[in-house]
Amino acid sequence: MNFRPFLLLPVLCFAAAVSLHAQPSSMQPLAFPVVKGKTYRFERVADGVYYATGGFGGKNVVLVNDDDVVLVDTGTTPATARALVDDIKVITPKPLRTVINTHWHYDHTDGNSVFGPEVEIIAHDFVREALTTYKVVEREPYLGSQGTVVPARIETLKRQIAAEGDAARKTALAGELAAAQKTLTELKAIRQTPPTLTYSNKLVLHRGSREIDLLFLGRGHTAGDTVVFLPRERIVVTGDLVESRLAYMGDAYFDDWITTLEALKKLDFDLMLPGHDIPFRDRNLITAFQAYLNDLVAKGAELRRQGVSADDAAQRIDLTAHAKAFPQITGPGAEVRGMRHLYEWLAERDAR
Ligand SMILES: [Zn+2]
Repeated sequence: MNFRPFLLLPVLCFAAAVSLHAQPSSMQPLAFPVVKGKTYRFERVADGVYYATGGFGGKNVVLVNDDDVVLVDTGTTPATARALVDDIKVITPKPLRTVINTHWHYDHTDGNSVFGPEVEIIAHDFVREALTTYKVVEREPYLGSQGTVVPARIETLKRQIAAEGDAARKTALAGELAAAQKTLTELKAIRQTPPTLTYSNKLVLHRGSREIDLLFLGRGHTAGDTVVFLPRERIVVTGDLVESRLAYMGDAYFDDWITTLEALKKLDFDLMLPGHDIPFRDRNLITAFQAYLNDLVAKGAELRRQGVSADDAAQRIDLTAHAKAFPQITGPGAEVRGMRHLYEWLAERDAR
């Protein structure tokens, strides 16, 4: 699917918002041994390195070291973070001592509050700045993905249940309503929790025999994206700086992002673990994403020059040439919040 459903009313956005996190990738999924917890499944991608999926929010990476556990990102809610902590006990009895947030977005940090003082939460300086100044649940990307969407979904389901004559269908809708209400309750439990340790350019953790490099390679998806690089394992955890699909662009630094990705490509790795979608090996996908960004900026600037509004540009922009690398593109259009942000970014660029 393309992103045009985002332009419709919020009530129609629920399915789109959810499916944004479940779009097909251009690649065949890599096969790794799997350990299943109650909620999460852990793909063992290297010795002691697990890609965790199945929770609410971004994907997580769990590093089981000689004496401790390091967790990358904490999901959308305290409930999902607690479920993850419980499930990690299926893969190791070692204590979780360190959390890394790849960036400030709600689906990577809103589980932070479940960790006590014995757990250091590490991120780039900007993540602390964002999480001490922004109200994450009162702004994008939370609002358009969860904040306005889930309550609207609940109201729609209530109306549908009232109007439904078929008993079996009514029961099915009631089940959906209960699930949405549970999600809303879990979202209301979010307590924004900033990192307790920050860095500017590079921070190296030595945990037993494991080296874990936290690298800030430049602005991109946000102003403070951390790449977690495991030099011995030749693995890089990319957060949303690069995914195996198109990343959200509502907080992007478009020019910087292309340059930052160039720096990423210079690292010596052969496996990428993204914050969404699936692990991948092919660096050509980074180059394809750089090309998409270039084209988005050029075509967005042209539409803006022609006086087309951002919302109309989000419907009309033709990026279908990139559909081979990103099969989620099935027609003209781009995600509307990213396009609105691109327009603001272009206005600032013009003013410079
Ligand atoms: Zn993000």
